[in-house]
Amino acid sequence: MSDAVEKVIIIGSGPAGWTAAIYAARANLTPLVFAGRPKSQPSLVLPGGQLMLTTEVENYPGFKHGITGPKLMSEFEQQAVRFGTRIVTDDGMTPDVSNPDDGHSYKYHDVKSVDFSKRPFKIIGEDDKVYLAHSVIVATGATANWIGLENEMRLARTGGGVSACAVCDGAMPIFRNKELAVVGGGDSAVEEATYLTKFASKVHMIHRRDQLRASKIMAQRAHDNPKINFQWNKTVVDVLGDQAITAVRLKDTVTGATSDLPVGGLFVAIGHTPATKFLNGQLELDAKGYIKLKDPYRSTTSVDGVFVAGDCADSVYRQAITAAGMGCKAAIDAERWLADHGVH
Ligand code: NAP
Repeated sequence: MSDAVEKVIIIGSGPAGWTAAIYAARANLTPLVFAGRPKSQPSLVLPGGQLMLTTEVENYPGFKHGITGPKLMSEFEQQAVRFGTRIVTDDGMTPDVSNPDDGHSYKYHDVKSVDFSKRPFKIIGEDDKVYLAHSVIVATGATANWIGLENEMRLARTGGGVSACAVCDGAMPIFRNKELAVVGGGDSAVEEATYLTKFASKVHMIHRRDQLRASKIMAQRAHDNPKINFQWNKTVVDVLGDQAITAVRLKDTVTGATSDLPVGGLFVAIGHTPATKFLNGQLELDAKGYIKLKDPYRSTTSVDGVFVAGDCADSVYRQAITAAGMGCKAAIDAERWLADHGVH
């Protein structure tokens, strides 16, 4: 265990985590970030968050021609490091993120567990090293649930017309005037399908049962929309297409029959899972596992000195810009809290 007590440790490296780091670093708090591990390894957080699975981001203000998710997150990271943010890595060095070709292989670290029972708080890294902190910002995000098909993930990663966010990707030219599919029967699926009808010629809602889970008013909205067509009692068992999706293979949950439905896009809306398990009940969560805000206008949590930002506390908006805004709030809250507690 290191005896040094960090002013603030930030867990997570999506838009919320890096924005918190930028603000905390500019407030001279020299934040320490646990950025998580790549998607290929089991991890609490994916470095860069969900945007690392996104190709073109067209709704982040300031980039009129759009920017790729990984590039946007790299810009956030470089900005945070420029002002003195440190990142926990294998060899303890904060990488020169502005120079990806410097020949150094950087392995970011995950958090294994935390102890918020008393101050200073303890953060236990994946190598069992214990880090102490006066304050903590949790920005671990949430992951969209995927069906789990190999071709689904391949086309999602390569911008081949598979997405888990219609608001983020639906307006892209590749989806215009096409027949699109949305999987799921909850409020998100209805919302995504309704949104997509602005661009699509037709939207197929594929649901594994014969009744929507969505609230009555949302369900009615979907039923009343002439562009939405329901594919009841169907699951997606494969996604067809080489560079881009051409069809989904459906299996009827009643008869077991399979059929191919030609579509130019697939939007998966089967819920999200917030990355909050590692907290082991030490912060108050809602029924779905999202961290509860003590005050809806702030970033405070059930533990004094622990702040939260981004999708791990937001099941409603889930946008890069809203996560970044929350990251800013969390850093300002942490800075003021530290000052009130005599830590400068
Ligand atoms: P949700 O309510 O949990 O719905 C998930 C849907 O995906 C369900 O219909 C479920 O089927 C289906 N599903 C789950 N796993 C699946 C799988 N492996 N394969 C196929 N289908 C699968 O999630 P959500 O729609 O994201 O909503 C989350 C919360 O946010 C809800 O409380 C919701 O009310 C709220 N929300 C509200 C609004 C709004 O009011 N405007 C908008 C969005 C979200 P089953 O029905 O068979 O379980």
